[in-house]
Amino acid sequence: MSTHTIATSLQTETETSTVIDRRWQEALQTLITDPRELITLLELPEEALQGALASAKDFPLKVPRPFIEKMKKGDLNDPLLKQVLPIHQEQDAIPGFTYDPLEESESNPVPGLIHKYRSRVLIVTSSQCAIHCRYCFRRHFPYEDNRSQGNHWSKMLHYLQQHPQVNEVIFSGGDPLSIGNRALINMLNDIETIAHIKRVRFHTRLPVVIPERLDTPLIEALANSTLKTLLVIHTNHPNELDTRLAKRLHKAQQAGITLLNQTVLLKGINDCADVLSELSEALFAAGVMPYYLHLLDRVSGAAHFEVSEKQAQTLYKTLLGELPGFLVPKLVREIAGKESKTPISVF
Ligand code: SF4
Repeated sequence: MSTHTIATSLQTETETSTVIDRRWQEALQTLITDPRELITLLELPEEALQGALASAKDFPLKVPRPFIEKMKKGDLNDPLLKQVLPIHQEQDAIPGFTYDPLEESESNPVPGLIHKYRSRVLIVTSSQCAIHCRYCFRRHFPYEDNRSQGNHWSKMLHYLQQHPQVNEVIFSGGDPLSIGNRALINMLNDIETIAHIKRVRFHTRLPVVIPERLDTPLIEALANSTLKTLLVIHTNHPNELDTRLAKRLHKAQQAGITLLNQTVLLKGINDCADVLSELSEALFAAGVMPYYLHLLDRVSGAAHFEVSEKQAQTLYKTLLGELPGFLVPKLVREIAGKESKTPISVF
């Protein structure tokens, strides 16, 4: 997708918020969860089915149709397909890959709230995602014990009130945008009443896989909040950014919402400087600043995606030569127990 194509579309598309709202909810109701259906839709070889069925038992397949539309038919190596198709290797037990690689259970003072870093807390806003990314470090997370509704929500607010060093709340999940606007706005309004909170950050992949989720009511709510709002999207490959998504992002940016992107470095998907460079350019054209390039969190079932630190350093040096500094995301690793992400030095 060229920058020009995106810009042209931004000028021409007009849709009402009512239509947009219905479309993202419909897309959520028609997710593909059966590997057989995905394989048939994409005209993939039958040989892929056995591994997909076996590994989907541990972490089910889930992928929305708008994301499938960005994949190439008949291509098992499609970089978007490889992020969602369960395969046999997920069942290999690899030393060093565990169920809770970031030891989040050690930083979980209230159900649904994770407090790892001094000034920021993360709220598990929803247990649901619109997509199941096979490399997800929360693929084994005990969501049933960490819901943010009802009594848990009151406890979380109380925790925030009691911790004045916290100035930023991160809505995460699952995917925070998998819940409706009204519920999100209510939560945002509750957070606004806590004087020491300055910012709310939404970490989401949902608009990437269903662009219509970034609808007008949501954009208006975030833009009108008394808090500074940031949207951190999650894209890994330039093929994920199309005109529909760029249009929504541009609208959010124009409304004053800060837009950032985080990427996970994934073997066979984006472990190539040209791909990452193209991704940064496409993000910037859509109004999004590249933020983090994460080394894989070593979660059980995802070892086949790992790019070694040495390879990442080599790749990153190439990226530094190809892009202006402001388009180069920070290369980081998350280490359990550390008080921030750990930058990876390349020199
Ligand atoms: S959308 Fe995020 S939380 Fe959900 S499966 Fe993908 S990486 Fe994990």
